[in-house]
Amino acid sequence: MGPFWRVLIDFFFPPHCPLCGKILGENSIDRPCPSCLAQIKFFFHPCCPRCGLGFHTTWGEDHLCSACLTEHWDFSKARSLGPYEGLMAEVISRFKFRGASRLAKPLGTLLAEYKDSEFPFSEFDLILPVPLHPQRLRERGFNQSLLLARRISRVHSILLDFTALQRIRHTQPQTELSGPERKKNIRGAFEVEKSAIISGKRILLIDDVFTTGATVQECSKVLLKAGAKQVDVLTLARVL
Ligand SMILES: [Zn+2]
Ligand SMILES: [Zn+2]
Repeated sequence: MGPFWRVLIDFFFPPHCPLCGKILGENSIDRPCPSCLAQIKFFFHPCCPRCGLGFHTTWGEDHLCSACLTEHWDFSKARSLGPYEGLMAEVISRFKFRGASRLAKPLGTLLAEYKDSEFPFSEFDLILPVPLHPQRLRERGFNQSLLLARRISRVHSILLDFTALQRIRHTQPQTELSGPERKKNIRGAFEVEKSAIISGKRILLIDDVFTTGATVQECSKVLLKAGAKQVDVLTLARVL
């Protein structure tokens, strides 16, 4: 589109902050406004190098969190942008449960802009979203993780696949269950249908929220078993 049309369109339809609706200046399409960004909490170092949990202190070295000292994870590293609270929790709930799929672009952009030298996007060959069961997909109309994954795939030019990993069992929503129940509930829920796609690949697995890690752990286990070389996880937010 030429600059003339851009100016004209911006005049009649000025870009809005996708989170609060405030009118923004130019070149700010698809990005939250500064005041929304300031309300979102992000994790910084020191954090747990394995699961990415941010600690309350701002000094000291990265070290394993108490969960990672005892828990067995099949993924190499997991990272979340920040805690699941405040504006981030509200926006994710709007995105998922109130069908606001237009939030996929700004939230996907936030994920794509995640910067951590220990977690470079150049490390990955393939991006996979955590799949939804076809029944849940029909109810919701879209897979929120796929929309986020698609944005990262475009920004970083990494291949995206949403066919190799399938959800073969319709499970009770994890939000209704406790930690141990979640593990049991999700066991056997995923299957790799096309192992040729994932064989030998360094995979970036995308989900919206990391709660106990049971879902991404189950996906990682199945992917490694089917021949993936490595699985890392990136989510918008982490339940504390
Ligand atoms: Zn805003
Ligand atoms: Zn940890």
